[in-house]
Amino acid sequence: MVRARDASRGGGVNSTDRLVKERRARLAAERLLDQKARELLEANSRLSDHARNLSEVVLEQRQGLAQVKTEREALLGRNSQVESDLERAQAATQLAQRRLWEALETIRDGFAVFDADHRLIIANGAYVALFQGRCELAAGQRYDQLIRLLAAHDIVDLDGGDAHDWHDGMIARLMRPEIAPRIVKLTDGRHMKFIDRRGEAGDLVCLVADISDVVRRESELEEARQKAEAANRAKSAFLANMSHEIRTPMNGVVGMADLLCETDLTDDQRLFAETIKSSGEALLTIINDVLDYSKAEAEKLRLYPEPFDLERCLHEVMLLLQPSARDKGVSLIVDFDLFLPTRFTADPGRMRQVLTNLLGNAVKFTAKGHVLARVVGLERGEGHYDLHVTIEDTGIGIAPEHVDHIFGEFNQVEDQSNRKFEGTGLGLAITRQLIALMGGEIWVDSEPGKGSCFGFRVTVAAAEPLPEEPSGRAITLGAALVVDEAIVSREILSRQLETYGLTVRACRSGAEALAALQGGHVDLVVADQDGGDGVALAAELRGNGYLGPVLLYSASPMAVRMPAGLVQGLLQKPILRSDLFRRLQDLSDPAPALPAPQPAPMGARRMRVLTAEDNRTNQLVFRKMVQEFEIDLQIAANGREAVDIWRNWRPDLIFMDISMPEMDGREATRTIRGIEAEAGRGDHVPIVALTAHAMEGDSESILAAGIDHYLTKPLKRAELAERIAVHCPKDAHMPLPLR
Ligand code: ADP
Repeated sequence: MVRARDASRGGGVNSTDRLVKERRARLAAERLLDQKARELLEANSRLSDHARNLSEVVLEQRQGLAQVKTEREALLGRNSQVESDLERAQAATQLAQRRLWEALETIRDGFAVFDADHRLIIANGAYVALFQGRCELAAGQRYDQLIRLLAAHDIVDLDGGDAHDWHDGMIARLMRPEIAPRIVKLTDGRHMKFIDRRGEAGDLVCLVADISDVVRRESELEEARQKAEAANRAKSAFLANMSHEIRTPMNGVVGMADLLCETDLTDDQRLFAETIKSSGEALLTIINDVLDYSKAEAEKLRLYPEPFDLERCLHEVMLLLQPSARDKGVSLIVDFDLFLPTRFTADPGRMRQVLTNLLGNAVKFTAKGHVLARVVGLERGEGHYDLHVTIEDTGIGIAPEHVDHIFGEFNQVEDQSNRKFEGTGLGLAITRQLIALMGGEIWVDSEPGKGSCFGFRVTVAAAEPLPEEPSGRAITLGAALVVDEAIVSREILSRQLETYGLTVRACRSGAEALAALQGGHVDLVVADQDGGDGVALAAELRGNGYLGPVLLYSASPMAVRMPAGLVQGLLQKPILRSDLFRRLQDLSDPAPALPAPQPAPMGARRMRVLTAEDNRTNQLVFRKMVQEFEIDLQIAANGREAVDIWRNWRPDLIFMDISMPEMDGREATRTIRGIEAEAGRGDHVPIVALTAHAMEGDSESILAAGIDHYLTKPLKRAELAERIAVHCPKDAHMPLPLR
């Protein structure tokens, strides 16, 4: 419609159109120009961005290039450093190799290396020399070839052996992970040790060392050792013989002096006789010590364990020491663990020796106070006990600087306080060896002026208790008074009585006891005779209306005099538990305490005792010692005579000396046992050996011969009496000594 109106206007319309068109065109051109200008601007800015990026890249690359350049230069530098290092290393390696070779060539031992196939790589001159120029050695040769060459060229002394066997033996070794060295003797007399070892890469490194000097020294040493052993055996045999030779006459001297002391003598004569006796005994002790020590040194001491009663053994040792303790007023006390068995399996002789040494020293070095042996034990299981034995004294003590040495041989404390004591200084050394042999240990605590406490520990097996005595009689006593002024023995005795079910009041003095008596009912009074006067106390108790039993204990019961009926028992100090127990049983019985001794049946015969002893002095000593017993005695001068007399006379007991001419005691015993066995009647005459030997193996070989018991000389009347009493047959008088 707009167009139709414009068309009606004519020519004016055309120019307007044109103007419009032009304007439009201009506007469009301007817009285009604008757009192009923007695009140009954009392109420009992109271009400049690009140019900037490009220049950055160029810059980076330039820097990279520079770095590469410096690195290259550094590398070049390092390379030349490495090259020179390498050169130096090569030089050092060559030097080390040269030195190694020089060293290998310098050593006297042969050295060679084989590869994993056992082919020779290198060998030094000494290794080559082993082949003594009799065959050439070259790299690549096999180990077994070389070994074969050694045998084939007579380089090795096969000592009559087969070359193949030797070769095979040498090669077989190499198969084992650890190659055992082999000593090879050469025909030129040298001894070479082949030591081979496998290297990491499988190489075999071989060393052949000349050990001829070592072998020679070894054989010299062996020869010297054999000579020394032979000398030692000769020394032991000499000591054994000397001991016998010395002991036999000494036993005569001591025995005779003993008998002499019992005759009527003037004071001077008594002094002389007693000196002879005690010197003789001291000499015998020294001989025994020296023998024991030399045996211990030669490791010849052996233990012969058998069941025995340790408590009894301790008491026996105490009783032996009682006289010297009593003379000084020193009391001996035993405290044996109440819950410990008393029978153990150990070597009774050696245990007694240990106790004798320790207790003997304690008594020797104590002037007043007491010596207390205490035994306690811990059960270790399977019937084994750890025994702790301590021996405590209130004697001179040992200074700390001496304590470490006293267990050494011939060591005695050298000072004023000690000078007056005799001894060899071997006792403790032997004791320590014995304890070590028993698997235990020994120690000492001591304070000078206060006393010492020696202790030892051993593990032993408990032995079967002896069959119970037929009377399991109960103890019915209730309340007891213990009267002792020494606290240690008072306490120990009180504890013992308490374990037997008694209630105990412990009193320090007679006055305290009398006061206690007023305080309540008392069934039993046990009092020390030695400290206060037990007999006087008993009399006073009676005076105060006490009618119950009184038991006294004393270090010398034989010396106690008292009116009959005043006291019901006198116990030997230290009190043996079983003695005390039996006494308490007796006192509990309403019936007479002990069965009255059976009078010997009318016309009962005398006991027959045979003694075999070749030494005339000892025969006389024996005869004198038993002269107070009502026995029939015959004496044989050797084993053969003993067997003959036994056959015809049938003695009840034989005392048999061991070393006798013609037939010794062992053989005589074996003969008697043989005849008894043949007769098959179950006869067994008790045979007690009398031995002067202290040398090893005696007790064993003696018992093995069929001997029942043995006594060591010098003979003791009490020991003979005990054996006679033990073996007195039922149809004979009990041959009690007359005094
Ligand atoms: P001896 O034969 O001299 O008694 P021992 O080897 O038995 O030899 O003892 C060595 C030393 O140890 C003794 O000489 C003594 O000096 C010291 N001695 C041992 N026991 C005791 C003790 N109970 N009290 C003090 N000193 C002791």
